[in-house]
Amino acid sequence: MQLSESTWTDVENADTDLALLPVGSTEQHGPHAPLGTDTVIASAVAETADEHYDGDLVVGPTIPVGVAEEHRHFNGTLWVTEETFRRYVRETIESLIHHGFNRVVVVNGHGGNVDALRECCAAISRHNAAYVVPFTWFEAVSGRMGHGGTLETSLISHLQSELIHDDRLQEATENGTDHWGEWQSGTNLAYDSAEFTENGVVGDPSRGDGTLGAELLDEAADALVELIETVSVRGLTQPERW
Ligand SMILES: [Zn+2]
Repeated sequence: MQLSESTWTDVENADTDLALLPVGSTEQHGPHAPLGTDTVIASAVAETADEHYDGDLVVGPTIPVGVAEEHRHFNGTLWVTEETFRRYVRETIESLIHHGFNRVVVVNGHGGNVDALRECCAAISRHNAAYVVPFTWFEAVSGRMGHGGTLETSLISHLQSELIHDDRLQEATENGTDHWGEWQSGTNLAYDSAEFTENGVVGDPSRGDGTLGAELLDEAADALVELIETVSVRGLTQPERW
């Protein structure tokens, strides 16, 4: 059940200790895909997993701004520091725990959030009778991720096709690049995406396709359901010593 569409009495009566917290980003996804791409996808993966999961869970509201300063050269991109993000996510999760939802999966849609979420979820799990873990959808599906490339363009084509500018797909592909970063000796020299992609695209959005998007959504949601099943039976306290 969606927290934002439920009443407090519904939540009081919910017979579960499981919650999902979707986390997105508001950032450039090339000239063809919306700034809210990561937020739309994280929300949809969480919603679909809720529908497919054979049990009750609550789905929190999607956090719309994350760690995305790397896209600052492209208009409309919003970001907060990792410190602010970790703290905001942590306190949001602590309020879920306060209401008895002490098994939480954070459903992430943005690569820049990964490190901060891992640290934040570990800290909560280490110091509370709770288990919290981040799930990043594109780490659980087949295909090369890129940025505004085939995978994300396919998913938005499936979820909100009116937000994809089909007439810009060819140009978006031609002026993008095919790999993330600027590498030397195993080191990424680039801090910002503008250093290696002219229009923000990494990958091939011209191959984006709604049918593939529907398949990716199911693949991600099914992987998330398997994770939820594992989290639902996991011990909530850390071993005192190894
Ligand atoms: Zn994205």
